[in-house]
Amino acid sequence: MSVLEIRDLHVTVETDAGTTPILNGLTLTIRTGETHAIMGPNGSGKSTLAYTIAGHPKYTVTSGSITLDGEDVLAMTVDERARAGLFLAMQYPVEIPGVTVTNFLRTAKTAVDGEAPSIRTWTKDVKQAMKDLRMDPKFAQRNVNEGFSGGEKKRHEILQLELLKPKLAVLDETDSGLDVDALKIVSEGVNRAKAETDLGVLLITHYTRILRYIHPDFVHVMVAGRIVEEGGPELAERLEDEGYDRFVGASEPAL
Ligand code: ADP
Ligand code: MG
Ligand code: MG
Repeated sequence: MSVLEIRDLHVTVETDAGTTPILNGLTLTIRTGETHAIMGPNGSGKSTLAYTIAGHPKYTVTSGSITLDGEDVLAMTVDERARAGLFLAMQYPVEIPGVTVTNFLRTAKTAVDGEAPSIRTWTKDVKQAMKDLRMDPKFAQRNVNEGFSGGEKKRHEILQLELLKPKLAVLDETDSGLDVDALKIVSEGVNRAKAETDLGVLLITHYTRILRYIHPDFVHVMVAGRIVEEGGPELAERLEDEGYDRFVGASEPAL
């Protein structure tokens, strides 16, 4: 079992207005095999949390900690985080000219595992994973993210997840821009990864829709850079009915 522990995390970002605090004391523990949903209104800092776990240079951790099995994640480079077993889709460049999906996946797999995968099993695994995600085999020869539709980007993200076999995956708005059919296919991919490898999932979403397909064990509500409420799946159902108003009102910053 692995555990990602986020303790009293404070994060700032540089804006024209100066240094702006975005995360204000966020605490969260995720174990392998668990699925956690983080929900919250727009601008509450959900993506900032994902970028901070990914090691994006724009976000500065001013205090608090993130550890994976006791190891200091914040001291790791982006590559080291991936090798440690964290899957963070947003760590990859938006477009990689001249690099095909198939070469990209193989390079990523080699980097994460520390050795190249055996050609025979790898080719078979890639084919199977693409088939499971209902992806056209021709997709493998396209350049990474070049002209990808929203749905193709998300499928490519889940293809990586299925092939790289991380311990813990952070999925930020994986549901955004997907029609119901694509949402089901992508969710099934996440569920396969969960079943095969005891994956831990941090599912960041504004809407409850994806939670009908990927069932969370825990639901956390994030407002103004901290967790304001925690519960089980029933909390997502309440949010579906009531929205975020109750929480937003309750956590008006005391400035
Ligand atoms: P969410 O994902 O919950 O919608 P974000 O983490 O994207 O929230 O944003 C939280 C707040 O931080 C917003 O007010 C946003 O404008 C600000 N913010 C986030 N990233 C940046 C950035 N790179 N530059 C400036 N402001 C940012
Ligand atoms: Mg947003
Ligand atoms: Mg966001």
